[in-house]
Amino acid sequence: MNERYSRQILFSEIGKEGQKKLLNSRILLVGCGALGASHAEMLARAGVGFLKIVDRDFVEFTNLQRQTLFSEADAGERLPKAIAANKRIGEINSEIEVEAIVADVNHSNIESLIEDCDLVLDGTDNFITRYLVNEACVKHNKTWIYGAAVSSYGTTMTIIPNEMPCLRCIFEEMPSAGSAPTCDTAGVIMPIIATISAVQVTEALKILVGKTDALHKSLMQFDVWQNDWRKIKLSKPNPDCAVCAVRKFELLDAENAGFETTLCGRDAVQIQPPNASEIDLQNLAERLSSSGEIKLNEYLLRLTIENYELTVFKDARAIIRGTDDISVARSVYAKYIGT
Ligand SMILES: [Zn+2]
Repeated sequence: MNERYSRQILFSEIGKEGQKKLLNSRILLVGCGALGASHAEMLARAGVGFLKIVDRDFVEFTNLQRQTLFSEADAGERLPKAIAANKRIGEINSEIEVEAIVADVNHSNIESLIEDCDLVLDGTDNFITRYLVNEACVKHNKTWIYGAAVSSYGTTMTIIPNEMPCLRCIFEEMPSAGSAPTCDTAGVIMPIIATISAVQVTEALKILVGKTDALHKSLMQFDVWQNDWRKIKLSKPNPDCAVCAVRKFELLDAENAGFETTLCGRDAVQIQPPNASEIDLQNLAERLSSSGEIKLNEYLLRLTIENYELTVFKDARAIIRGTDDISVARSVYAKYIGT
């Protein structure tokens, strides 16, 4: 066995056998922002053999204060986070495999994303995606580890379908849009990211090496500024839960679900045209060259026009900054990219 893992193998709860299991494990990381980047780095260093990293966003300078995998150069180039993470992980541990996917996680792709993975880690920044992940994981009986952090506090919980309560058992109603503070409105400090991601990754290691007795089996809440650490013990799933008891998968089955999302607190809207084919960004750049200022890299095109900034990805998805109004964003999209 590679010397690289010797200190982890000396830790008796993992040992040689555990290390082999880690190398043969496959994890889906949903989101590669602050929590996700931290998950990715720890799991790559620990030698988890396969990481599938899905993220819809690109690196910005405001990320660098807490998103440890990314550099100034990544922000300058506006690299998609999944791509920048893959590049950095290649420098940290070239022996593991990473699949980087630049995409929005939604009802059309979540089931195929989790299919070949043993475990799912939550690194998202919004409740809609978390409830969607919860439904997909309950439906396909996959364990997932919820985590959220904002300001100086955070929450985490490990969800083993049918054994432990699911997200919907605990939080029956999804917080309505705009009601919960976000990192973009309330700010966030890096130590809470480190705390929550450390608990999530430790839980992941326990599961992957088969030491499920060591799981914390609770809803853990931390406030690193107020020095408040709580552990609320969890027992059985809620027998009336709409998701894990009734098995009603509202978000997954939402055939007519909108593909537009307001990116909370960011004065931006994401537009995802359904059934779109891949866009030739070079072509689009030529077509838009007289419309405004254009920046292009291998993964995305950015157009600054009127009062908006459009970032278009190869999968035809776009993030339109300068509005939080979905209909305005839609018309900007139609005007410059077409439908
Ligand atoms: Zn439930």
